[in-house]
Amino acid sequence: MVVGIHRNAQVNVSKSALYQNINNEKQRLSNNEHLFMVVKANGYGHGAVDVAKIAKQAGADGFCVAILDEGLELREAGIDDPILVLGITRVEDVALMAKQRISVTVSSLDWLKAAEKQLMGKDLPALEVHLGLDTGMGRIGFQDKDSLKKAVDYLEQSPCLDFEGIFTHFATADSKSTDYFELQVRRFNDLVSVIKNKPKYVHVSNSATSLWHSECNGNMIRFGVAAYGLNPSAGELDLPYKLRPAMSVTTEVVYCKKVAAGRAIGYGSTYVAKDAEWIATVPVGYADGITRRMQGFKLLVNGEFCPIVGRVCMDQLMIKVPNEVKPGTKVTIVGQDGNNSITLQDIATYCDTIHYEVACLLTSRLPRKLVE
Ligand SMILES: *Cc1c(COP(=O)(O)O)cnc(C)c1O
Repeated sequence: MVVGIHRNAQVNVSKSALYQNINNEKQRLSNNEHLFMVVKANGYGHGAVDVAKIAKQAGADGFCVAILDEGLELREAGIDDPILVLGITRVEDVALMAKQRISVTVSSLDWLKAAEKQLMGKDLPALEVHLGLDTGMGRIGFQDKDSLKKAVDYLEQSPCLDFEGIFTHFATADSKSTDYFELQVRRFNDLVSVIKNKPKYVHVSNSATSLWHSECNGNMIRFGVAAYGLNPSAGELDLPYKLRPAMSVTTEVVYCKKVAAGRAIGYGSTYVAKDAEWIATVPVGYADGITRRMQGFKLLVNGEFCPIVGRVCMDQLMIKVPNEVKPGTKVTIVGQDGNNSITLQDIATYCDTIHYEVACLLTSRLPRKLVE
């Protein structure tokens, strides 16, 4: 995929914000608790390899990804810390995983048996296995003690598989009401009671759990969205310490003209100028992840809010500006300009989604630039 390095539009990622967010969390953990930084989906759109390197400096002990290729990207970049793939991996890729020492999430005994068949007789390190427990997320994992016990017994006798971890994932850790969370904790404790020899890692915490239910942490946390400076609860719950958003998105005006009253702007002619108006063109669009839903949302130019008028095109959009602005004038889509700022949460609220999605949708056409 092409990265737009010859354009003035970029995702800026603050090294110090990432460092602080991760380091603050690391300081809250006890000595036996490990912090695995979640860098799936290109580090939530921030750039996985750069984020991982900063996270490591800030104290991260390992990394979580969603798919095997994301783990391989880290290995290729020279990162040799533990990596766990959180999703289910194809059995045919287990030899590659064992060779690269990438740990796998497993949800069934059949998968273990098939993996062992693939690995048997090959001169490879044992495949590191984390058993996933479905305590109420309803996504992947063992649901009952009997099937879990069989999987654990199978792991213990297997020469090719190593039982490295056990974990679950909470569905409501970011919510005020704790009933469902507590139900999941009870189910987790009940399931884990069948395991005599605990594996190296017992982990349940995403960002929300580690921020608001740290007593449950186990000995490893999977620290994701909060590391990027975003409140997992979208403001429903107060943060125990200040998070600094790591991402800003900026571009610049490429064209500006005065249009007469009655002139329409963009596909479908959905916006018609009421008076003579200054309209500036901004060289980003939905192919960059600035979605069509953002029509009407206000971007910052010279510290002032300027609405997107007309439909967002694939590669360009138009904003109404109070007066003429020169090409090259900075446009802030996410971040601070003067006394005003726009957060990923502001866009999420406007588009009726969550900040996670807004960040992930920013495509590789927008280059990622590390800033202080
Ligand atoms: C994505 C993910 C996380 C990280 O979640 P955040 O809310 O970003 O902290 C942790 N665990 C699992 C299983 C995940 O899929």
